Amino acid sequence: SREATPCFKENRSVEQVNKAQVAIENIAYETYRAAGGYALAAAVVNGEEDAEAILQTMEDAGLRGLGGAGFPAGRKWRIVRSQPVPRLMVVNLDEGEPGTFKDRHYLERDPHRFLEGLLIAAQVVGTEACVIYLRDEYHAERQMLLRELKALHANPPCPLPQIELRRGAGAYICGEESAMIESIEGKRGQPRLRPPYIAELGLFGRPTLEHNFETLYWVRDIVEKGPTWWTSFGRQGRQGLRSFSVSGRVAQPGVKLAPAGISLHELVDAYCGGMQAGHTLYAYLPGGASGGILPASLAHLPLDFDTLQPHGCFIGSAAVVVLSEHDRARDAALNAMQFFVDESCGQCTPCRVGTVKAAALMQSPVWDVATLQDLAQVMTDASICGLGQAAPNPLRSVLTYFPHEVV
Ligand code: SF4
Repeated sequence: SREATPCFKENRSVEQVNKAQVAIENIAYETYRAAGGYALAAAVVNGEEDAEAILQTMEDAGLRGLGGAGFPAGRKWRIVRSQPVPRLMVVNLDEGEPGTFKDRHYLERDPHRFLEGLLIAAQVVGTEACVIYLRDEYHAERQMLLRELKALHANPPCPLPQIELRRGAGAYICGEESAMIESIEGKRGQPRLRPPYIAELGLFGRPTLEHNFETLYWVRDIVEKGPTWWTSFGRQGRQGLRSFSVSGRVAQPGVKLAPAGISLHELVDAYCGGMQAGHTLYAYLPGGASGGILPASLAHLPLDFDTLQPHGCFIGSAAVVVLSEHDRARDAALNAMQFFVDESCGQCTPCRVGTVKAAALMQSPVWDVATLQDLAQVMTDASICGLGQAAPNPLRSVLTYFPHEVV
């Protein structure tokens, strides 16, 4: 029957189904625990590991928020920990930045490493409840996470905080922390004006620890192996590891775990099998739709937080899109601006109107440079949140590095 032969129902071969089954067993709760998983979390929760020592380890490692903002995780833990109880935690698994798929990659392969990091953070910071905000498009991952959370609750390694899995509804802006909190509270997902910061006044008015999925994913390894394990990785003066979501004209796209500060050249050549046949590097987007566009002549720059700002770009969540001489930077910039037109929450005029006007101007074969520069400045200066402030980055990059395409 169809019920008995899911491989036919799903149009997959028996080998593929068997492989998927093996993959599920590899990520299952019992498998993770049998390999020593949750021992650290249990020791932290049961008081066998000193919370202050773990906090110090996190600060010494210098792990930075891997959702894009790059705020040091240890410092964030200490700030929220100093706030009055009750404290709450929210996990950003919305992963909406175009070109980013690293969170899904790790979630599908090792969900309990993330959940163990969550338990450790909850204990050290003293958060009573946690909401995991999952991208609505991740249907299969939601089912898997529900199943694994059920297994965790059925046989917990230690007392657990309240953990709730919440579905997003497809809005990019709900990846912005305060808009995500508004969404969780049942309101329209619009960013809040700050201050007050959510570390003081976050979910339901309580001090809130907000983390990207991947930041928590690395907590167990850093605490177990020590801060120098993490800081021993790096290039060009940078420290730690970065998970690059690489797409575009490379031979082998995918999630590439590489040292912080690696250059685009090395990332493509050593991790992605080089460029696709018939393509040579022309440009690259280092940080998804909002991180700007750099020319091939700057492919030697260290890819990391803070290193690309002098060039009008940033790494964000490390979504690297590689373009070849068959592409045009202006097309990528227009595509990004049209994305922001769709995803602007509409709360403030510079972003709501500016994105629409910029997208219209960018369709002209010859750009009205003065007006676009003026628009970009107003959007950066006067938008409430990072979406409107960063939306002009790709267009500015075109004016700076690819003027031959538009004038
Ligand atoms: Fe909304 Fe854009 Fe203003 Fe952010 S900048 S609050 S996305 S309108």
